[in-house]
Amino acid sequence: MSQSPTRSRRFLGGMPLWQQILIGLALGVLVGLLFKDVAPLLAPLGALFLNAIKMLIVPLVFVSLVAGITCMQDTAKLGRISAKTIAIYLVTTAFAVSIGLLFGALFTPGEGMNMVASATTEAKQAPSLMQILVGLVPANPVAAFAEGNILQIIVFAIALGVSMNLVGEKAAPAVKLFNSLAEVFYKLTDLVMRFAPIGVFALIAGVVSAHGIEVLLPLAGVIGVIYLASIAHLLLVYGGLLGLFARLSPLRFFQSIAPALAVAFSTSSSSGTLPVSIECARKNLGVSEGVAGFVLPVGATINMDGTAIYQGVLALFIAQAFGIDLSAGQYLMIILTATLASIGTAGVPGAGLIMLGLVLTSVGLPLEGVALIAGIDRILDMARTTVNVAGDLMTTTLVGSSENELDRDIYNSSNKE
Ligand code: ASP
Repeated sequence: MSQSPTRSRRFLGGMPLWQQILIGLALGVLVGLLFKDVAPLLAPLGALFLNAIKMLIVPLVFVSLVAGITCMQDTAKLGRISAKTIAIYLVTTAFAVSIGLLFGALFTPGEGMNMVASATTEAKQAPSLMQILVGLVPANPVAAFAEGNILQIIVFAIALGVSMNLVGEKAAPAVKLFNSLAEVFYKLTDLVMRFAPIGVFALIAGVVSAHGIEVLLPLAGVIGVIYLASIAHLLLVYGGLLGLFARLSPLRFFQSIAPALAVAFSTSSSSGTLPVSIECARKNLGVSEGVAGFVLPVGATINMDGTAIYQGVLALFIAQAFGIDLSAGQYLMIILTATLASIGTAGVPGAGLIMLGLVLTSVGLPLEGVALIAGIDRILDMARTTVNVAGDLMTTTLVGSSENELDRDIYNSSNKE
């Protein structure tokens, strides 16, 4: 049910939205650097935009997923899509930690810092797998909506959608209602996105003005390595998988998802970016409503490749900074815990820093490493959230293509929003 890209909205002299957003981003960096006092005044504009996209998350995920499931009468297909989604998420995450470790080992950003660890502190416990599984089913769906618990909302939406399919004819009015509501929320997302260039501009100006060169310089090495590893992952792993398994152009992919990447970069929240990701997937990538409505919300909560890269680089960085040699077993442990920790990371700003503590304690690295990074974490969060969102969209594209749920004409069109 994707709309034709030729009907895309054009304003500001016909410039597509993604270009306007990128201009907003660049201007935001400039204002943040040059007019440090002006940037904080823009904060309410940024907050307004953030609130507007957050307002969409719960209702949009719910109605678009129910509507999408009702288009998929074949339950075996639903099972296949779920299995593929989880498999791709896990494999790409393991790749991501490994790339992080590789870059950390190659560039040794922590060498020569000569930090000394004090007694190690207790890290918090991660929830057990059983707790996570039991918690997936919402005892009270209204509470799940109120708390914005995306995984519980997904489970409820799938159960409702499948039940509607099973009821058949008598559920027709309900199916119609959800389809109509989904269209309404897509339109609302569309309207909110018109403000994205201004929102992104204000958010970025605030972040850049708050993080002056003096804060960033001492840790410039590790920032550089994380950004480099993130770019390598985007181009090699995502570009490679799309070309190899779906015969799709990586260039078109990145052009299609530019609005989502810019919003992820400036908000540092993959959950917050969800409405924009869904819009990019449907309108620019040509993925069907059912696949986008399922794969993206799941990804925004469990798939965090950027966070995994960050944990890989930082584990090595901290080991180097404190002069600790890691064994092969510890490397394996980092891959395992960083993969699991990234699944457990919430798609909100700063969540990855908390999970870093978990990875460090699992291999006996000093927790002071977390404090070392805290001051620059926002800058790192921007990179990891961008990769997190790109990973969700890449998986959506791969799954869509393998299930014949991707419109190649829309994907290949150069006319993106
Ligand atoms: N901010 C990241 C995200 O929303 C999560 C993290 O902190 O690693 O994807």
